[in-house]
Amino acid sequence: MATEAARRGILIILSSPSGAGKSTLAHAIRDWDPSIAFSVSATTRAPRPGEEDGREYWFRSRAEFEAMVGKGEMLEHAEVFDNLYGSPKGPVEDAISQGRDVLFDIDWQGGQQIRQSSLGQDVVSIFVLPPSITELESRLRARAQDSDQVIAGRMQKSQAEISHWAEYDYVLINSDKDRAAAELRTILGAERLKRARQSALGEFVRGLNAEFGDMQ
Ligand code: 5GP
Repeated sequence: MATEAARRGILIILSSPSGAGKSTLAHAIRDWDPSIAFSVSATTRAPRPGEEDGREYWFRSRAEFEAMVGKGEMLEHAEVFDNLYGSPKGPVEDAISQGRDVLFDIDWQGGQQIRQSSLGQDVVSIFVLPPSITELESRLRARAQDSDQVIAGRMQKSQAEISHWAEYDYVLINSDKDRAAAELRTILGAERLKRARQSALGEFVRGLNAEFGDMQ
């Protein structure tokens, strides 16, 4: 009898300037579907209060990070705000081979590298824009985890990050977090149904044809 056709896992790349609400969106999509794996990046930046090693990031020294890159363990890596960030390859390959989707909260440099990698065909990329720059700055300040100097640096980088919006498959304007989360669910729902992703569809249709044969 027919069962749900298996499909390839999707690499969901979410990028935005800091403070555009990307992390909240990432949590919302995982609350909606807990089977979505989150790619925990490695970084050389110091943990912020409340962050835990292995949950938000793998916090590593520059030497440890560079050793991982040297051993080919990173799917992508980039320098962001004077620190190194990278996505470890192993957990992503494991999840994808099990047909699970993987969510990446990474910058445009990482997005470009994964799109150009051998996994590029499995990528769905989404850029999140803030409703305004005033709103972006107030969200950064509300976090109150970074110094004024760090915030000023992040605002400068925001403009550079936003300049890459057109490289993404989808763009969300995050004026309302519930609406943006609903839009993200719509994107993922439709992408999951794409014919090319449903790898067991051929076999399923052969089963339907066999049923036709049985009726004759
Ligand atoms: P934060 O330090 O605020 O957590 O992150 C700073 C920036 O680094 C964010 O734009 C985030 O998306 C990006 N980032 C986090 N992890 C990675 C990663 O593994 N690779 C790349 N390329 N960027 C990352």
